[in-house]
Amino acid sequence: VGDSPAPESSTQPEAMEEEEPLFSNLDLFLFTLIAGLIIYWFMSRKKAEPIPEFKKLDQPSPSTRETSFIEKMKKTGRNIVVFYGSQTGTGEEFANRLSKDAQRYGMKGMAADPEEYDMCELSRLAEIDNSLAIFCMATYGEGDPTDNAQDFYDWLQESDGELNGVNYTVFALGNKTYEHYNAMGAYVDKRLEELGAKRVFDLGMGDDDGNLEEDFVTWREQFWPAMCEHFGVEASGEDSSIRQYELKEHNDINMNKVYTGEFGCLKSFETQKPPFDAKNPFLAPVIVNRKLNKAGNRHLMHLEVDITGSKIRYESGDHVAVYPTNDTAIVNKLGQILGVDLDTVISLNNLDEESNKKHPFPCPTTYRTALTHYLDIIHPPRTNVLYELAQYATDPKDQENMRKMASSAPEGKALYQSFVLEDNRNILAILEDLPSLRPPIDHLCELLPRLQARYYSIASSSKVHPNSIHICAVVVEYTTKTGRLTKGVATTWLKNKLVADNGHKSTVPMYIRKSQFRLPFKASNPVIMVGPGTGIAPFMGFIQERGWLKEQGKEVGETVLYFGCRHKNEDYLYQEDLEEAEKTGVITKLNVAFSRDQEQKVYVQHLLRTNKEDLWRQIHTDNAHIYICGDARNMARDVQTAFYEIAEELGGMTRTQATDYIKKLMTKGRYSQDVWS
Ligand code: NAP
Repeated sequence: VGDSPAPESSTQPEAMEEEEPLFSNLDLFLFTLIAGLIIYWFMSRKKAEPIPEFKKLDQPSPSTRETSFIEKMKKTGRNIVVFYGSQTGTGEEFANRLSKDAQRYGMKGMAADPEEYDMCELSRLAEIDNSLAIFCMATYGEGDPTDNAQDFYDWLQESDGELNGVNYTVFALGNKTYEHYNAMGAYVDKRLEELGAKRVFDLGMGDDDGNLEEDFVTWREQFWPAMCEHFGVEASGEDSSIRQYELKEHNDINMNKVYTGEFGCLKSFETQKPPFDAKNPFLAPVIVNRKLNKAGNRHLMHLEVDITGSKIRYESGDHVAVYPTNDTAIVNKLGQILGVDLDTVISLNNLDEESNKKHPFPCPTTYRTALTHYLDIIHPPRTNVLYELAQYATDPKDQENMRKMASSAPEGKALYQSFVLEDNRNILAILEDLPSLRPPIDHLCELLPRLQARYYSIASSSKVHPNSIHICAVVVEYTTKTGRLTKGVATTWLKNKLVADNGHKSTVPMYIRKSQFRLPFKASNPVIMVGPGTGIAPFMGFIQERGWLKEQGKEVGETVLYFGCRHKNEDYLYQEDLEEAEKTGVITKLNVAFSRDQEQKVYVQHLLRTNKEDLWRQIHTDNAHIYICGDARNMARDVQTAFYEIAEELGGMTRTQATDYIKKLMTKGRYSQDVWS
């Protein structure tokens, strides 16, 4: 996700400029005068009668309405609230684990989505004895808050409220390969202190590039004893597992009332109603699905989905989110190994009746649907899952190892690192390799995290393709250390979305996530795009849009692309389209780095250095906007270094000055990144 602010006018309807005014100024004046006289006559005809006040009895007063976490805490005897800013579910998971932990220490916690509560009430937390607010805050994209924490972030920025007497601590979730590592967590930690709240435990820093789970476990193991001391509570730390949901099997249920993979409303996939968003995705038919690479053993693909009639709008640079489903073979194997009938209809009901979350996933449903559509069965499970499942291992050694992996003891951490993470064991592989472990499937379903939507940078422009969205992706496939072939959930599922599947249209549940990766407001500004591999995706949209602007007779500045791939004859994605765009002058300079066509690697940053004079003029004199898309871990960093070097050499700067120079471009929205790791 890029840094640049979205040009407001880009969302203005194009036709507005051309329209003839319907009324002249005189018409408008007369109209206003007459309307004013009529209103005056009505108002003065009778003295305003007192309007009888009807009080809705079922309408809770502001202090007791659902959005008051304070009232809820008071009503249910809770003293700890764990707020989460979560985009992919991990922050929420950590918050649930912390709120559950509280019970072990004789306290009572609740996990809470800041979007669902009135965060202005934070100052009232001091009304509750021994109270504490924990914040599990993920950073998204380029230092941004997650969607559900956006309002809270805005409130924090604007608030000058007094948070005296409010105890808090923050655990930040992020990834070190990104420029603004844990920016959101650090901001919340700092800002709460500025507003007068009391930090009762140090900010935790979780790095998903290293081992986020380990960072969390370590922080939490130090956090709870410190809290017990703070509140003068006995740190008993009872080891028993606590179930959050109770199983109900439905033997005689009307199947029309059973969820079959939809989110939010029952049957929302059959009766589709806009607006479409994360909770109400649109089922978009796949209209194109083709392989992009000419050779090689990978599968790079171009997909187009149809959004006709959905009222969905997008801009070049936005992301499309899709909800994938798990591989049927893995779901079946899980059913077999646990010896259950996957078609049993069940509900998992929250034992805490006050909780906003009644079920871990839409219920009633079948185990098959839950494991196919709602639960993540592919990522290696987190340590709390192993800890809770340990009780079902009949071999004491397995039980001991599973508990050890969940502790912060060095031996346990090492075991989790090698057995689960490095060997990349998903839950099925763990069950296969620990034959004594056969947990009840309902407890497993309670513990597994939700299957998350996957985001792709949109590879089309809505100016050229208002009714379709294009995706460019590479199918992920690798063999783990234990010899298991592992396939990426979403990309494998997308690959199998054939245009016509036995006469049926294949569909993809999707919605749009707005981004700030935007073309310059002024088309005459030069644009430098750097996108090797599938990083080309948003630039296909940008190129289409620049071409369209040109056709509209707009003055369009230089449009320079730096693309990179392995071999010219293998994975030169969109070669024909790109060469055609250069021929017609839409791309003013097409630079392609073929990394493996010669002995020495040639990467996009090498070509940037070759063209340094041109680049410096475009950036320094002509106000070019720079865009980077693709791998965050190495490519984006190496490309940024190349820009530093160019600024040093041609701008006569020191490295510190060059770094500042690029940072300034970032804040001005002239150096934007849409990168992933
Ligand atoms: P790719 O085909 O693997 O790479 C594209 C080109 O970039 C190749 O020529 C490659 O060269 C080159 N390259 C490698 N390291 C580089 C560096 N440090 N600087 C500049 N160029 C470099 O690209 P891809 O398949 O699109 O994937 C790119 C990366 O993004 C991969 O790491 C992939 O796992 C990741 N990815 C992530 C997601 C996600 O959503 N998380 C989605 C797609 C891709 P050589 O290979 O010859 O060194």
